[in-house]
Amino acid sequence: MAFSYWESMEWLEGHDLIAIGGGIVGISAALRAKTIHPNWKVAVIERDSLGGGGSTKNAGFACFGSTTELLHDRKTLGDTEALSVLQKRISGLQLLRSTLGDEAIGYRACGSLELIRKDAGYEMPSQEIIAEINEWAAQATHTAQTFKITSSSELQGIDATKINGAIASPLEGALDTGKTMLALRNMAQSHGVRILLGLNVTDWEAGNSVHRVQIQRQKGLGLEDSIWINTPRVVIATNAFAQELMPSLDVIPQPNIVLVTAPIEKLKFNGTAHMDAGYLYARNIHNRMLIGGGRHWGLDSEEEIIQALNATMCSIFPCAQSAEIEYQWTGILGVGMTRKPIVKRIRPGCVAAVRMGGMGVAIGMQLAKESVDLLIAE
Ligand SMILES: Cc1cc2nc3c(=O)[nH]c(=O)nc-3n(C[C@H](O)[C@H](O)[C@H](O)COP(=O)(O)OP(=O)(O)OC[C@H]3O[C@@H](n4cnc5c(N)ncnc54)[C@H](O)[C@@H]3O)c2cc1C
Repeated sequence: MAFSYWESMEWLEGHDLIAIGGGIVGISAALRAKTIHPNWKVAVIERDSLGGGGSTKNAGFACFGSTTELLHDRKTLGDTEALSVLQKRISGLQLLRSTLGDEAIGYRACGSLELIRKDAGYEMPSQEIIAEINEWAAQATHTAQTFKITSSSELQGIDATKINGAIASPLEGALDTGKTMLALRNMAQSHGVRILLGLNVTDWEAGNSVHRVQIQRQKGLGLEDSIWINTPRVVIATNAFAQELMPSLDVIPQPNIVLVTAPIEKLKFNGTAHMDAGYLYARNIHNRMLIGGGRHWGLDSEEEIIQALNATMCSIFPCAQSAEIEYQWTGILGVGMTRKPIVKRIRPGCVAAVRMGGMGVAIGMQLAKESVDLLIAE
């Protein structure tokens, strides 16, 4: 069975720009294009009914990097590149907040803590190191104290005997992932962006001025319709799945497990915490504890990771000890040799914006802006 004449003509053909991937980057790119060119016909093509990537499965940290993560970025990228990535995360967060509004995304300016767990193999940075990071980071944050060592008496709901120290960052926060993605979709649709769900892009061919994109309707009712459509502009925003359409890009899909407990009465921990150089994260979400990550443990099975996540949560946050796990899911991160994202012009009229390095909530809208600006400047 094929797509009908109406489906082809009205829904699929004749777009001035198509974003492949309906996560934060794809939808933000489509929204930006439509805002600059209201007369353009712009669509987002997404294969999942709700959004299959990190954008609907993340932990909702509005973060730009803990001290150990930033030290790692500076080591792998060098000071100048790492600063540019930090700046993009900060501008991306500002753009997200100013575009959608703090209320719509459930933003809380709760700050964040980096906890240096005992026996986890990470050193507590000295006052001198924190002072040096602060001086470097100030070029992007425009604040003298981006990070501050916190005394254990200031920690609420954390067992201080389990950590070597804590570093606070007052500039970070948390948001509601579900509200954020719904607000973004609603805004894009109110600007006339078409979000086409349940359609998988199975192939594409870059031309000189017109590109061809092969679209397949998701299996169901035995339908496997496939059609090639033409468009002059494409933004490929498939993040972790980038290699399916661009096999040579350095983007590796990395599964990440998240657990959420039942509501906990009098939960004392009310903020967000990064641990183990960002490989572990925990937060309060609606008086439940969320914990996720653990890919650095190198454990073989999902069951082992879940047990280790639960054990870590109960050890550091004693209030979670008797709480049931009510939700558990896996999201897919797009990572590579470094945490530098890829915004790349593949051909005239075709840009890839992928490899968010686990901080796409922060950096996503900024990269969407850059990718569309690159297309429009041609
Ligand atoms: C468990 C987890 C926790 C995280 N926590 C945080 C956090 O707290 N803070 C933070 O800043 N970041 C976090 N991240 C990272 C963040 O969620 C991602 O970087 C960000 O959502 C990526 O956005 P995106 O639009 O680039 O990609 P995605 O949201 O992955 O969207 C890509 C979309 O493309 C679709 N797609 C792929 N291939 C095709 C195709 N061929 N045809 C059609 N559609 C296709 C997918 O279904 C998907 O919906 C987390 C990620 C995970 C997995």
